[in-house]
Amino acid sequence: MARYTGPVCRLCRREAEKLFLKGQRCFTEKCAIERRNYPPGQHGLTRGRRRRQSDYGLRLREKQKVKRIYGLTERQFRNLFDRALQMPGVTGENLIVALESRLDSVVYRLGFASSRKAARQLVRHRHVLVGGRTVDIPSYLVRAGEEIRLKETSRQMPLVRESLEMPRELSDWLALDKETMTGRMLRRPTRADVPLAVQEQLIVELYSR
Ligand code: SF4
Repeated sequence: MARYTGPVCRLCRREAEKLFLKGQRCFTEKCAIERRNYPPGQHGLTRGRRRRQSDYGLRLREKQKVKRIYGLTERQFRNLFDRALQMPGVTGENLIVALESRLDSVVYRLGFASSRKAARQLVRHRHVLVGGRTVDIPSYLVRAGEEIRLKETSRQMPLVRESLEMPRELSDWLALDKETMTGRMLRRPTRADVPLAVQEQLIVELYSR
């Protein structure tokens, strides 16, 4: 299935929580969740509150939520899940760590982009170097010790500058030198390092049916 290209605030309203898909706007009162926290669509408001969900519905929503936060298609998400399944350890935790280790996600966490979507675009448009070499594959999994740098010609881009000025706490598994716009993955993140309020076990249960 193709990547969703419609209005992203609709996705947050569908999941009834902020997924932070729009960068700076998500932190303002213009956020659709602040203004219209009811399901999207013609009957979203009149149908009232969200109905009780079945167990399957709960698991599906959790999967959709994570998939939307990271902006993946169903196939990409499923492939990553299958990879997590083969790794030693807890599958759900492996999945979150793998999602977080994607190059677009690391670029976002370093603050070079204000959203994962913008980070993906930076990577796709060849602005990002990993270990000194251009990598234009957003799904590239960054390894501990690798250096992520913006090309010199890309450092003055207003979107990058604005994003770096946004108040954001840097995860302690990452290091950043704002002057040279160079980051490094100090170590592989753990589940506890990822500030994501999701129950990944529900996703494992969904795919294990
Ligand atoms: Fe979601 Fe951000 Fe839109 Fe708010 S502004 S609804 S958090 S994408």
